[in-house]
Parts: sequence; structure tokens; C-alpha cells
Amino acid sequence: ATMPPLLSAIANAGRHGVLVKSAVVMERLGQVDAVALDKTGTLTEGTPRVSDARSLPGSGLDEEALLALAASAEYPSEHPLARAVVTAARERGLPIRPVEDFVSTPGVGVTATCEGRLVEVGAPLRLLRGAPDAASARVTAVVGELEEGGRTAVLVTLDGAPAGVLGISDRLRPDAAETVASLASLTGTAPLLLTGDNPRAAARLAAEAGIADVRAGLLPEDKVRAVRELERGGRRIMVVGDGVNDAPALAAAHTGVAMGRAGSDLALETADAVIVRDELATVPAVVSLSRQAHKLVV
Ligand code: ADP
Ligand code: MG
Repeated sequence: ATMPPLLSAIANAGRHGVLVKSAVVMERLGQVDAVALDKTGTLTEGTPRVSDARSLPGSGLDEEALLALAASAEYPSEHPLARAVVTAARERGLPIRPVEDFVSTPGVGVTATCEGRLVEVGAPLRLLRGAPDAASARVTAVVGELEEGGRTAVLVTLDGAPAGVLGISDRLRPDAAETVASLASLTGTAPLLLTGDNPRAAARLAAEAGIADVRAGLLPEDKVRAVRELERGGRRIMVVGDGVNDAPALAAAHTGVAMGRAGSDLALETADAVIVRDELATVPAVVSLSRQAHKLVV
């Protein structure tokens, strides 16, 4: 028997390096009106590197102690920023100490107890709380400087007090700009960026990729809200993401696509399709395959 067009399209998508989970999904991929892309790990390569470690005066830590502390707290996390911190500590031969009470909050960061002291690593704006004081003014200045340079700034606190800031940078995927352009022409709508990262680093990366519509500083539930808003009036949105923080938006969207190589298990399970070969350009390719199959079905 000849294979039904949607099943051949699934096989074809597989050859392109995309795992499409069902015939229904194969059909839906071609119906998408606009695409929302995540930043870290989706538009970027997802192998960020620590470029700066600045300990704050009064923290009692030097740069190496700061990095070792952050790496210990980040060790259990699967977030790309966490892996960058652990790698940086390892490369410098720093000790990674066991931690207790590890908690990871998607879009915010991690908390753990290390040798009896509470350590937090995460988004500066979300970890800096309470009345502004000299330490937080100092943090804001360092964070501003790093973000101006297109880096993601991560704050490290020790027993609730700012201890230092890490600067982390990630490269745009080589096929990001080309993918953004093909998706724009295929769907007739310019793709947009949804990210939990800061507006400055996000805007800079988006400009390189050719994306004008940037929504930054989003928590996982904000990504869902953005998708629902975009889908009002019957528009069908595809979300492409990799993180635990993207899972709710992947589920809420008309079509959810996860980056497979470094994607979190939750994103891979939640998504309708998984990019197995680590190339963003496979996304417009499967949209086209879906449309071709649809022509054969009708
Ligand atoms: P994106 O939407 O770009 O993939 P996330 O929502 O995963 O980004 O993260 C948003 C922000 O939350 C990061 O830029 C960082 O400041 C902070 N963050 C989240 N998880 C971690 C972590 N494990 N370590 C450090 N910072 C984190
Ligand atoms: Mg991500």
C-alpha cells in the first residue's frame, strides 16, 4: 500500500531531523500563522560561557570563591546558564561542593544550602529585593555594564546579601537569521522573541537575528499569557523553546516545538515536535513539508 501523505511527511520530517509526534501535529505545523521563539538555547547555541566574575567588596569572596560557590549551587540544575557556571569552575580547577535543599525556579534561578550558608544564583531583578542600599546600587551598576555589552548578568547572593555578579554570553545560532527570514515569508508574519532574559541582552540578540518584536523579562506564565494574547482572534502560534520555563507555553500554543539536543526533558515531553538534529532551519522545512502533504490530502 502507498503511505498516506501525512505519514510520508512524518518520515520525511524525520529525515530532516525533526521528530513529529503524530499525524495531527504534522497537519497542524503547516497551519501556523506566526512563530514565537525563545532566546537561550533556541535562538542561541545554548552553550553560553562565563566571561566575567565580579565579586562585590564586603562579600569576603574573591572571583574564584564566587565562581566555586555559584557552581556548587548550580550543579544540580539543567539550565544552560547553570552548565556554563559549572564548566567555568571546572576549567579553573575549582572545587564543586555538595549542596542541600536545592530548589530551581524556572525563569528566576536556583537556591541551595552550601556548607550551612544559603546561596542563590539567578536573575538580578528577581533576587534583589528589599530597600535599595549601597550593595544593590553597586549590583545595578555592574549588571547594567554587563548587559550593555550584550551579556546575561546573573546575581549570586550569600545568606541573602549580594556577593557578586557573573557575566555570561551566548552566540546566535549560525542559521538563526536565515530561519527568521524563512518563517516570516512562510507565515506572512515576522517572528517574535519571548524570553526570560533581560531586555538589553534580548534586544541586542534579536537585532542580530532580524527580530523586531521582543518580549523580555518573562516568567513561564508570562510566556503563556503572551501566546494566548497572540492567539486571540484565532491566530495559530507556534512556540519554539527548549527549557522547563518554556514548557507551559509549548503546551498552550497551537503547536509547540522543542530543541532536542540540550532541551529539558519537560520541554521534550510537552512539545508536539522535537528538533533532533540541532538546526533551527529545520523548523521552516517541516512547515513546508506539512503544507505539501496537505495539498496531497485535499
Ligand atoms: P530564556 O527564556 O531566554 O530561555 P530563562 O527563562 O530560562 O531564559 O531564564 C531567564 C532568566 O532567569 C535568565 O536570564 C537568568 O537571569 C535567570 N535564570 C533562570 N535559571 C537560572 C539558573 N539556573 N541560573 C542562573 N540564572 C537563571
Ligand atoms: Mg531557553
